[in-house]
Amino acid sequence: MAKLDAKIPNGPLAQKWINHKNSLKLVSPANKKKMDIIVVGTGVAGAAAAASLGQMGYNVKVFCFQDSPRRAHSVAAQGGINATKNYRNDNDSVYRLFYDMIKGGDFRAREANVYRAAEVSSSIIDQLTAQGVPFAREYSGDLTTRSFGGVQVSRTFYAQGQTGQQVLLGSYSALKRQIAKGSVTMYERRQMLEIVTIDGKARGIVCRNLVSGELERHSAHAVVMASGGYGTIYFLSTLAVNSSGEAAYAAYKKGAFFANPSFIQIHPSCIPQLNEYQSKLTLMSESLRNDGRVWVSKAQGDKRKPNDIPVEDRDYYLERRYPAFGNLVPRDIASRAAKERCDAGYGVGDTGYAVYLDFSDAIKKQGKKVIKNKYENLFDLYEKITGESPYEQPMKIYPAGHYTMGGLWVDYNLMTTIPGLYAIGEANFSDHGANRLGASALMQGSGDGYFILPITINDYLADEIQTPKISTDLPEFHDAEQEARGRIEKLMNIKGKTSPLAFHKKLGRIMWDRAGMVRNNEGLKKGIEEVNLLEDEFYKDLNITGSTESMNQTLERALRVAASFEIARLIIYDALNRKESCGAHFREEYQTQDGEALRNDNEFSYVSVWEYQGSQKTPNLHKEDLVFEEVKVQQRSYK
Ligand SMILES: Cc1cc2nc3c(=O)[nH]c(=O)nc-3n(C[C@H](O)[C@H](O)[C@H](O)COP(=O)(O)OP(=O)(O)OC[C@H]3O[C@@H](n4cnc5c(N)ncnc54)[C@H](O)[C@@H]3O)c2cc1C
Repeated sequence: MAKLDAKIPNGPLAQKWINHKNSLKLVSPANKKKMDIIVVGTGVAGAAAAASLGQMGYNVKVFCFQDSPRRAHSVAAQGGINATKNYRNDNDSVYRLFYDMIKGGDFRAREANVYRAAEVSSSIIDQLTAQGVPFAREYSGDLTTRSFGGVQVSRTFYAQGQTGQQVLLGSYSALKRQIAKGSVTMYERRQMLEIVTIDGKARGIVCRNLVSGELERHSAHAVVMASGGYGTIYFLSTLAVNSSGEAAYAAYKKGAFFANPSFIQIHPSCIPQLNEYQSKLTLMSESLRNDGRVWVSKAQGDKRKPNDIPVEDRDYYLERRYPAFGNLVPRDIASRAAKERCDAGYGVGDTGYAVYLDFSDAIKKQGKKVIKNKYENLFDLYEKITGESPYEQPMKIYPAGHYTMGGLWVDYNLMTTIPGLYAIGEANFSDHGANRLGASALMQGSGDGYFILPITINDYLADEIQTPKISTDLPEFHDAEQEARGRIEKLMNIKGKTSPLAFHKKLGRIMWDRAGMVRNNEGLKKGIEEVNLLEDEFYKDLNITGSTESMNQTLERALRVAASFEIARLIIYDALNRKESCGAHFREEYQTQDGEALRNDNEFSYVSVWEYQGSQKTPNLHKEDLVFEEVKVQQRSYK
């Protein structure tokens, strides 16, 4: 059984990374040329890693299921990316960002990794600016910033509401440069289905060519998972529809442990579902809460139009409940507060499941032009979808699934429990504890990809310089391919009546009801039963049209949904085990008198780390105890 060793370096927190870097082994340029690395994923994390490793001299093969690396889910990120530049002179520092993240994550993250994420943040902005990422600037030309939830400084760099797109274009151009130079080979339209291990080490992958339908084998000396999160477990979410976590699940099945799967972020400000035919929800970035004020009517079931409700009849409930942070409380808190108001009958709109996000005061104070400059594309997006102009009346918003803090367990070197298998970006669990603060995902993904993994991976590869190129004719590759083929044939041969999409929708409903914004013991137990029943039905009644020998998007989806059943159970096991509330994990049984999350540090101050035991079998739980040396663990408060 793999042993959990987080490999946290000794010494003071602020010195750990510097000392660790100095102690890591190196690979000479001549040896780098002889070594192959596979990177699965081309989002901000994968593209940054692949470009950096290619530039360092390794032979890199990078995979994505989209038709271009540029279409990775990262392209959707809107509001910004954090860094401790302290350009505002608001007394920001590495320590402060570290502390905000630890507190924001409700004291369920590993101190050393979080500190390092904060430490490299400034370099990311320099790197991206050098690549030409058009961050917003002051009239003077200096980069400007704004605030995000859970902090009292202004440290978020942004490119209007399209920061992810611009940051991804930066990494993409670095990646393309290496592709042109021949150090990186790009494999688009590939769905990774299996990790190949040889003598316990990660040595390659099996993937399906989504255009020809062929199964392909690819080998390497090390494999990096940059495959993103699993937030589409709720079916409707702000994520790209294919962000399913199936690649991380493939790694888990092969022996990589999975950490904190139940820590899933529900974002407070999304455009509410408009009809039954929607396949995704649209985010209205947290950055909008720099200027937008959240409110509902003080009267239950108030059907007046928002502009007809006078100020004295409005309940600015975030400002009322959390005066210190107001509308910029962290996401878990803002989401639950919205749900509380709606459940109590104060929600707005036709369904009563929405709250207002209102810009009228900001427009009065700053003028429409200034507000337009800051948020134009988000306002346009909102108007296109709802037909209502946020310049004229408040937006209606409601919480939705958004980000997964859980993921593959990694040590300080970002290596999983499978030697030679690394996980970076949203695919790992590393930095956000039980709740991620806004604008810290692009930061973590870029930090992992540009500045951390390219340093730590050498330490492993230094011991592999004698390993020749790995043949894909080895029996382990054959077995992995057979495993993938068997799964595909099993699904194709069901020949039932129901599409994978219909199963995904039903699974999403179960997960939202049983393991969504609030959870309880009874609901979670029912959830497991419901997931199992639905999965049984899936394997009896699934219908996949088309064939395996060509492009078949129904098959692609079916493979994802099959993995989602497994991930769903893992989420529920984890939520059942964690008999406390922390961050986004809110167990109704464990709350303070005023409805806030009630942690149990005596029993649950650990990362829950799950080891696969077989489908529909309860996984083994390992615990990584969290030791806090620098911060004082206390009840989180934003009041
Ligand atoms: C609407 C929205 C707005 C956001 N705004 C912000 C923001 O303003 N600031 C911020 O910091 N964060 C934001 N986030 C979060 C952030 O965008 C993501 O966490 C981050 O981009 C994830 O990057 P990644 O590189 O880890 O993974 P992704 O960008 O999800 O990329 C995953 C890659 O893995 C590949 N892949 C996955 N599975 C397979 C497979 N089986 N086979 C082959 N390839 C595979 C995909 O093709 C893709 O290339 C936002 C998220 C959403 C949904």
